[in-house]
Amino acid sequence: MEIIFNRLDDVSCRFQIGPVNSAFANSFRRAMIGEVPTLAIEDVRIYDNTSALFDEILAHRIGLIPIRTDLSSYVARENCSCNGEGCPACRATFTMSVEGPGMVYSRDLIPEDPQTAPAIDTIPIVKLTKDQKVVIEAHAILSTGKVHAKWQPTTACGYKNYPLITIGEACDGCGQCVEECPREVLEVDSARVRVVPGRIEDCSLCGLCEKACLGSGIGEEPAIRVTSEKKRYIFVVEGDGSLPVKEIIERGLRFIKDQSVELKDKIGEISGGTGDEKQE
Ligand code: SF4
Ligand code: SF4
Ligand SMILES: [Zn+2]
Repeated sequence: MEIIFNRLDDVSCRFQIGPVNSAFANSFRRAMIGEVPTLAIEDVRIYDNTSALFDEILAHRIGLIPIRTDLSSYVARENCSCNGEGCPACRATFTMSVEGPGMVYSRDLIPEDPQTAPAIDTIPIVKLTKDQKVVIEAHAILSTGKVHAKWQPTTACGYKNYPLITIGEACDGCGQCVEECPREVLEVDSARVRVVPGRIEDCSLCGLCEKACLGSGIGEEPAIRVTSEKKRYIFVVEGDGSLPVKEIIERGLRFIKDQSVELKDKIGEISGGTGDEKQE
């Protein structure tokens, strides 16, 4: 298996992966969304809330703020030596005290540990008028997106098959498909159409070029054919800032690997061997 990055920074990336089958591609997508732990606020103690929002809505909005997460500094509450009571190893503490008039932003959530601050400062929470107040204490814990969407580290995570475009001899370079393509993937060169160098991955597999070619009166078969490579996929992953995107990818892959090892061991237990026998 090979991964080739076209773009990679802390919050987003685009890469191709292959050869893998569709089951693996989808498991990988689901692992990144639902199995990579992050911190999110789970418990909110409200000392004062005279804003226009009910306590529950205020707590819900605060829970959705992405929190920068150092996974080497925290353990899940259920695995902590405090037996789930809450301690610095399994929870991050925040306080907020704001008085109106003005907007309350995510940056008003002050972390006890400066490394574990809101990932984005400018998320509006509630607007206060004169003399309205919000005073709270909040605790963030580690969990995963399969428990609640607030623990998902990704805001977008999807894939498509790698496009494959072939141009037949019948192409006369009329340019109808070029005009129809919404992604500017095609161009006419020397009386024939071709893929613009470097733009193949922008193809959305919509098939409009094939339809345009048929509409040009070429006959029963279009000169352009759009298919996809069955074992190569293009992924786009965007993080919410809680974890670097590279870490989301690495942990997603590690989750699949660990699950595979566990499955192999279970098969081994059931069959009375190590599991390797069944693989061979
Ligand atoms: S399938 Fe759609 S995006 Fe791809 S080349 Fe044809 S028209 Fe353009
Ligand atoms: S519409 Fe068909 S014939 Fe015309 S340029 Fe495109 S592929 Fe060639
Ligand atoms: Zn603890």
